[in-house]
Amino acid sequence: MKIHEYQGKEILKKFGVTVPRGIPCFSVDDAVKAAETLGGKVWVVKAQIHAGGRGKGGGVKVAKSMDEVKTYAGQILGMQLKTHQTGPEGQKVNRLLVEEGADIKKEYYVAALTDRATQKVAMMASSEGGMDIEEVAHKTPEKIIKVFVDPAAGLTDAQANELANGIGVPAGSLAQAVDTLKKLYTCYMETDASLAEINPLILEGNGNIKALDAKFNFDSNALYRHPEIVAYRDLDEEDADEIEASKFDLAYISLDGNIGCLVNGAGLAMATMDTIKLFGAEPANFLDVGGGATTEKVTEAFKIMLKNPKVKGILVNIFGGIMKCDTIAEGVVAAAKETHLSVPLVVRMKGTNEDLGKKILKDSGLPIITADSMAEAATKIVAAVK
Ligand code: GDP
Ligand code: MN
Repeated sequence: MKIHEYQGKEILKKFGVTVPRGIPCFSVDDAVKAAETLGGKVWVVKAQIHAGGRGKGGGVKVAKSMDEVKTYAGQILGMQLKTHQTGPEGQKVNRLLVEEGADIKKEYYVAALTDRATQKVAMMASSEGGMDIEEVAHKTPEKIIKVFVDPAAGLTDAQANELANGIGVPAGSLAQAVDTLKKLYTCYMETDASLAEINPLILEGNGNIKALDAKFNFDSNALYRHPEIVAYRDLDEEDADEIEASKFDLAYISLDGNIGCLVNGAGLAMATMDTIKLFGAEPANFLDVGGGATTEKVTEAFKIMLKNPKVKGILVNIFGGIMKCDTIAEGVVAAAKETHLSVPLVVRMKGTNEDLGKKILKDSGLPIITADSMAEAATKIVAAVK
């Protein structure tokens, strides 16, 4: 689960990391009031969406007068902000963060994240803050420093020093940077985050270290332990179809292709998407109906897939284990009828009650295309959507 920058800063602040004073706003009037409350001469008006790269996309503006606060808030609120993380359609801005301006001397990058290869928490830092870190990793990987944390010891002083020194924090600010890194690690661990990123972490003119941005990702399997984080959820930022799917306990992720996939089991779903790609097409979604799919669940799954106007065909790939093929076949037939399915449908089923399942499909009188192997299923659906 993702949250907004201003929420991330609230969390960082709770763990003792210095952040600018700021106020979240939902209207231009609120933004002006917020700037007045904050006082000072410079404010930053920031779009709050669940995606990075807002600066480059025009979603972060430095205002030097109340008029500018008003103008920028008006420009940014309601805009369809496009960044490299939103996709070409962009994301509508419904919230702003108005902050006191910061005197930036240097921008760093620091983050805590789960490293799959070492199965440890990695703390990453770079002198190239404020930029797209993927680009730094690609062009100048030597400018990224990583340490792996022993869970029993936590982030040690030596490791935090190695990071802070490695990115060139000046001597007078080292202690603060080390402290910030250790707090970031604690925050990451205690909130069950899978990513806690500060980009940029800044060195101010007066030598202070401050978090100017905050990006968090939380492990959804641990959210039951954190009602205060669940309360931060903003459904406006999430895919409507994914929310709908989660109500029916379907694991659904929207993708960019045109072949809808309905599969049982995450591994088979991944393999199905790979096979579609291998045969030259792109999946429109990942959809795992799970082990206990009922007719109702399959029907909902069809409805959700078909809401996507890009879907030009559906591939159902089922392994009947505990879940029997005849149950799925009945679900598919009912779903096809209820949704008045008008796109080609290829069904491949293997396993328990396979013959019974195939008979149900055949007897339905629906134009369902059946396939025996994955290659055959993929070939047929790719041909059908072309
Ligand atoms: P992102 O583009 O979505 O990652 O948004 P950030 O919060 O990182 O903001 C982008 C950039 O705006 C930062 O890297 C800073 O250079 C700049 N910025 C953010 N806050 C301030 C501020 O208070 N003062 C100034 N001068 N620049 C800021
Ligand atoms: Mn940033």
